[in-house]
Amino acid sequence: MLRDSFGRVATDLRVSLTDKCNLRCTYCMPPEGLDWLPTAQLLTADEIVRLVRVGVERLGITEVRYTGGEPLLRRELVDIVTRTTALEPRPQVLLTTNGIGLARVAEPLARAGLDRVNVSLDTLDPATFKRLAHRDRHADVIEGLAAADAAGLRPVKVNAVLMRGVNDHEAVPLLRFCLAQGYELRFIEQMPLDAQHGWTREGMITADEILERLSSAFDLAPDDLEQRGSAPAERFLVDGGPARVGVIGSVTRPFCGACDRVRLTADGQVRNCLFATEESDLKSAMRAGASDDDLAARWIAAVSRKRAGHGIDDPSFLQPSRPMSAIGG
Ligand code: SAM
Repeated sequence: MLRDSFGRVATDLRVSLTDKCNLRCTYCMPPEGLDWLPTAQLLTADEIVRLVRVGVERLGITEVRYTGGEPLLRRELVDIVTRTTALEPRPQVLLTTNGIGLARVAEPLARAGLDRVNVSLDTLDPATFKRLAHRDRHADVIEGLAAADAAGLRPVKVNAVLMRGVNDHEAVPLLRFCLAQGYELRFIEQMPLDAQHGWTREGMITADEILERLSSAFDLAPDDLEQRGSAPAERFLVDGGPARVGVIGSVTRPFCGACDRVRLTADGQVRNCLFATEESDLKSAMRAGASDDDLAARWIAAVSRKRAGHGIDDPSFLQPSRPMSAIGG
């Protein structure tokens, strides 16, 4: 098992399939993009599936989420999902995507066994979308959401980040939209993970503020807080339920004590925390001929060094050198 020195066990593996993205969301990367990883440094599809297999067969991984960058940019995605859902014991296989191109692949992904999808949508206004993501692709995302729902990848979850003065007036309309479509909305507090290092505490819309805005229009009652377990989102029943909304207060309401996640970057580095400053290089070990046992041992050692918390509130906090897009959100 992937147990750290505080007794937490990692069962949720997040795999970045590429650091590239076709959007430029301001809380993630600059408009001009970033220097992408050279192809030779990216794990191949076979290498990805081998590491995931080691995680599932030997290390107790029960949930695999493919992310990025933008995972739909990886041509082998359907093949990777097919091979992941064939693993024993069968893990839950999930995808986090910006939704662009999902209209085309939702059906093949569902056939490959994908269980569910999270689609990022921060605004209902195409002009705000363009301002926030520097690309005019709002309609594609809406179409992608509908396709995921039609393909049965339900409940479709929507991730939204609110930014002060940009889209923070949209908490209520976003929830209305998701309720009407049957999507489950989750707001994520903006974290200091942008490549430009532009995050400020004052700029961040906090979980408290999100809840205050939502409460002006909806009756929110805490749901399953007792059984929240390792789930990052605090969930609330909306107007008595059954519809729910989630708020992920990564900064102001950290859930590190219950964290069960471990990450694999597109270039094969294990990260034991989104905010880790050290990584463990499984790709080089694998390319140098490491056995599955060897890889598992390195992975176990990497997780054992996980810190107690992300430390954003600590005066000594250092933002990781990799931005969110290169870690895998
Ligand atoms: N490209 C895919 C997408 O847009 O969903 C997957 C990768 S993206 C990094 C995953 C999630 O991280 C998205 O929901 C995005 O909004 C969120 N995200 C990115 N940067 C963030 C930040 N600085 N703070 C909070 N969430 C962030």
